[in-house]
Amino acid sequence: MEGDTIAAISTPSGEGAIAIVRISGMEAAAIAEKLYRGKVSLSSVDSHTIHYGNVVNPETEEIVEEVMVSVLRAPKTFTREDIMEINCHGGIVSVNKVLDLVLSQGARLAEPGEFTKRAFLNGRIDLSQAEAVMDLIRAKTDRAMNVAMKQVEGRLAGRIRSLRQQLLETVANVEVNIDYPEYDDAETMTLDTLTGRAAAVRDEIDNLLTTAQQGKILREGLSTAIIGRPNVGKSSLMNSLVHENKAIVTEVPGTTRDMLEEYVNVRGVPLKLIDTAGIRETEDIVEKIGVERSRQALNEAELILLVVNSSEVLTKEDEALFEAIRGMNAVIILNKTDLPRNIDEARIRELADGRPVITASLLQDEGIDELETSISTLFFDEGVEAADLSYLSNARHIGLLNQAKQSINDAVEAAEMEVPVDMIQIDITRAWEQLGEIIGENVHESLIDQLFSQFCLGK
Ligand code: GDP
Ligand code: ZN
Repeated sequence: MEGDTIAAISTPSGEGAIAIVRISGMEAAAIAEKLYRGKVSLSSVDSHTIHYGNVVNPETEEIVEEVMVSVLRAPKTFTREDIMEINCHGGIVSVNKVLDLVLSQGARLAEPGEFTKRAFLNGRIDLSQAEAVMDLIRAKTDRAMNVAMKQVEGRLAGRIRSLRQQLLETVANVEVNIDYPEYDDAETMTLDTLTGRAAAVRDEIDNLLTTAQQGKILREGLSTAIIGRPNVGKSSLMNSLVHENKAIVTEVPGTTRDMLEEYVNVRGVPLKLIDTAGIRETEDIVEKIGVERSRQALNEAELILLVVNSSEVLTKEDEALFEAIRGMNAVIILNKTDLPRNIDEARIRELADGRPVITASLLQDEGIDELETSISTLFFDEGVEAADLSYLSNARHIGLLNQAKQSINDAVEAAEMEVPVDMIQIDITRAWEQLGEIIGENVHESLIDQLFSQFCLGK
């Protein structure tokens, strides 16, 4: 039932010292009031104010937690309902106690994503914005955060709306042709102009899709493997990357501590270092598991950092590693340049096959800057950034854009085969509907439920 009062812990568990119990709905203020003891009455204070006090068990008056309560009244709230946010300081145990008390006073535990779902259903945000909120929660770097923010501001939605408008106008013109076939005027839509307009929309969709790959990387991190023979400096490289950048460690849900993923933010590119713990603990992954098996580990990598020792001649093992990464995204690091050079650099460039080769002395902290620059230019060439496109970062959006593009292709092909114009209209209408699904127009209720159930609890 919509409209009842929901509550959940709205801070990610384990993050930060403050945990928040968020309550949204008609009864939010009344429920908070029953538990709150302080100098004010929460139902009569101004909206958007915050109040110190205690949460007590109303049956025993026993103090459960020292709190700050934010009072946010409808309609200027995220859900457009009354919201009470109880900020607790005492960690996960006491925040759970507070949540239990809130539930005991008549709130219902929110389903995952239900706050955001209400924001959507109450017209506060459109669907692409709702999804962006989810991305925001999971954003791994500042740059990813910006992408999500832009989407929140409705940039993607704006572009989609304008594309739909263009398609609608095209369909409207086709309509004229069907209803008034004798209306022989410059305004009538010839198959040529129809094809032209449809193709223009398709090109714009293509533009949006080219940004999709960057968006995915920003959201999920770029799987990165550091490889090389024993003793070339892999661990040193890992340490430099981790120490010079903010490392973000996230727990993969449902796994134990040894399945931690480590993210390193390199100039806005979140590198997801593959099997970090493995590389760190076993020291030399290549040595331990052999080139053959490291080849397998390489399959899931989107970026390879191959380290070679410039003070030694190239070995068969080095060559085997180059062979293993043929055709992959890679940066070659010629390490230990503080020592006399014995490596054949011409051969290295040949093996690198156009991929960047960086000289470095990790011992002396040299080369990391150049490495970071080359990683960032690999994934954000100037053009993309300068165009200030709203990156697409959502698999559902990308899927729908591809479908819409296909529908428009069908329309263009049909037009070229001089198929009756009302047949072409069907394809264009389908593209219009598919674009609409991205921003939540024409979306079936069950699709909405499915989408919102993927949100983190308490958002
Ligand atoms: P790994 O086995 O590939 O992980 O290599 P390590 O990072 O453990 O380094 C092996 C050895 O090489 C260590 O003694 C490092 O101090 C040393 N080393 C790493 N980078 C450099 C460098 O740029 N110059 C010199 N001279 N030694 C280095
Ligand atoms: Zn090592």
